Amino acid sequence: MSKAKDVDDRFKKFGTVSFTAITKINDFIDYLENGKVMGTRCKGCGQSFFPPRSDCYQCLPGEMEWFEVSGMGKLVTYSKLEYAPIGFQEDVPYCIALLDYGDYKVFGRIDRNLPPEELKVGMEMKTVANTLPNGQLNYVFQRP
Ligand SMILES: [Zn+2]
Repeated sequence: MSKAKDVDDRFKKFGTVSFTAITKINDFIDYLENGKVMGTRCKGCGQSFFPPRSDCYQCLPGEMEWFEVSGMGKLVTYSKLEYAPIGFQEDVPYCIALLDYGDYKVFGRIDRNLPPEELKVGMEMKTVANTLPNGQLNYVFQRP
């Protein structure tokens, strides 16, 4: 079995963001299954990456380590999605958003139990691992 095939199969479980450009970081899904949302950090320069990257563009071929996305991020922007990509039509409407954690930013969706009217740019939110009704994994943003 090829390495690429292995990555593809595992990323089928991931339900929010397209990670097609990413290779070698399929541990992300294993962490997610264990309730952890993880990014990568370069051991050379300390740069944090989310979505996780396997290489640092400054220190190639620098060594990367995993870190957990924890604590609070600030809501930078959000948008209500009425139309979803193929495969996710039953999920809409939902809100996608961007959280700023200082060193890095996390793009994802707002917990569907949180009404959009209660969202405010600048509010603090946390990122948590989540399982969708169809069994796919993703992560969502919740209020603290
Ligand atoms: Zn680096």
